[in-house]
Amino acid sequence: CKEHKLMVVGEGGVGKLALLIQFIQRHFSPEYEPSHQDSFRKRLVVDDESVLVDIYSTHGNEISGSLLDHISQVCVGFLLVYSITQRSTFNAIRTHHEHICRIKEQDASAPIIIVGNKSDLEAKRVVSMEEGRDLATELGCTFIETSAKQDVNVEEAFIDVVRRIPPS
Ligand code: GDP
Ligand code: MG
Repeated sequence: CKEHKLMVVGEGGVGKLALLIQFIQRHFSPEYEPSHQDSFRKRLVVDDESVLVDIYSTHGNEISGSLLDHISQVCVGFLLVYSITQRSTFNAIRTHHEHICRIKEQDASAPIIIVGNKSDLEAKRVVSMEEGRDLATELGCTFIETSAKQDVNVEEAFIDVVRRIPPS
């Protein structure tokens, strides 16, 4: 079966880990705070094909440093996450996108989805869905809003990326 390495990127606190835990373990735990870089695996069926995904994330504020550069180099798809409740995390998406493009310059076909997380916090929203969609269009990415807490669009976000990975 095919095996794909994905990476979840974004500022601290946007819900990268919560999305991963919801996707892999099917629950939301507000207290989970590991101190290490984690990798998660899951077997998925996408378009009748079984694939194994290995997902990497960071608990620091951004991807930098040689280890992370190495990991991003072997990853074939990316989720760029911000929180709809924090404008600075949305503004940081461009920087993360540029960083990935620099690392992946030989492989511009690596699919990227921009993810606006915490969609359950509508009352605290400061980034509109249109802004998210417009940025994704400008950067040539797809776009989705998710709630790791309420399990909205979480699997959809990962599957979108897997589905767009070009055959190797
Ligand atoms: P990370 O630093 O990007 O890995 O973010 P975490 O997964 O550690 O989440 C940061 C905080 O946001 C935690 O308190 C989570 O419980 C909370 N959080 C994450 N996703 C959601 C979500 O979809 N909705 C709400 N309401 N809170 C979330
Ligand atoms: Mg965290």
